[in-house]
Amino acid sequence: MRILHVWAHPEPRSLNGSIATAIQKTLTDLGHQVDTSDLYRMKWKPQLDQDDFDVPDSATAFHPEKTSREAFLSGWQSADIETEQRKLVQCDALVLQFPLWWYSMPAIMKGWFERIYAYGFAYGVGEHSDTHWGDRFGEGAMSGKRAMTVVTTGGWESHYSGRGVNGPIEDLLFPIHHGLLFYTGFDVLPPFLVHRTSKVDAECFDDLSHRLNRRLENLFTTPPIPYRPQNGGDYTIPALELRDGFEPGHTGFGIHRTE
Ligand code: FAD
Repeated sequence: MRILHVWAHPEPRSLNGSIATAIQKTLTDLGHQVDTSDLYRMKWKPQLDQDDFDVPDSATAFHPEKTSREAFLSGWQSADIETEQRKLVQCDALVLQFPLWWYSMPAIMKGWFERIYAYGFAYGVGEHSDTHWGDRFGEGAMSGKRAMTVVTTGGWESHYSGRGVNGPIEDLLFPIHHGLLFYTGFDVLPPFLVHRTSKVDAECFDDLSHRLNRRLENLFTTPPIPYRPQNGGDYTIPALELRDGFEPGHTGFGIHRTE
């Protein structure tokens, strides 16, 4: 299988650097073809702006969505965007690795999504009708592919528990898992988490490497998070609200999972 490993950390000798090396070795040893996007070493440009598009009529005002669509359809996107889109299209699974920075991914990785998730590629696709509201949330360009996040946090596991002060980790990762990955059709696996990173030593690293290897070995068999497909009948269209019969009395991120 072909795996795309995308990771973000400014220092290759960091814990994330060690984890990245371990991921690439394990996947290669398992016989997979591994493509890598090491965003800091690539000096990835994080901001989406007019320099991303070689639009002939530059007198027209730049519109992040419309220009993105026009450039995607016309082949006017910059080469770095096209390269990363191709890697995504070619992969069978995506491994997305990052340290939790201010409750999300580092800005450089957010910018990877903002720039390569073009209008017509990642969003604005599929029919819009009374029964189908675009190919999204369970459908889309990434259908049939799997995605797993590998996330390190300075905070303890308990800080991210159901009653932890930071909020549950599954809620904090919801915008990434559901909003970025499930949105375009990925089957999203439960994350691999490394908490309390300041306490990681050789013994701890050995243990986490073993657990991570098991997860990578089971990349194509682990059951995904059971998010509800948008067009599967659970939501009203076009309001896109969960129908009254499901999760009565409940609101919040958790209602979008079937478990
Ligand atoms: P490093 O600091 O490089 O390493 C951690 C430990 O692992 C070190 O003790 C190191 O010696 C050891 N180590 C590294 N490699 C190996 C190896 N091969 N073998 C054995 N030991 C090894 N945390 C939160 O919980 N929530 C937040 O919202 C949050 N926001 C942040 C925002 C910013 C801007 C920053 C800079 C940090 C934030 N943090 C937050 C903390 C952050 O999540 C951690 O610093 C990060 O996850 C640690 O990963 P690292 O790769 O930088 O680890």
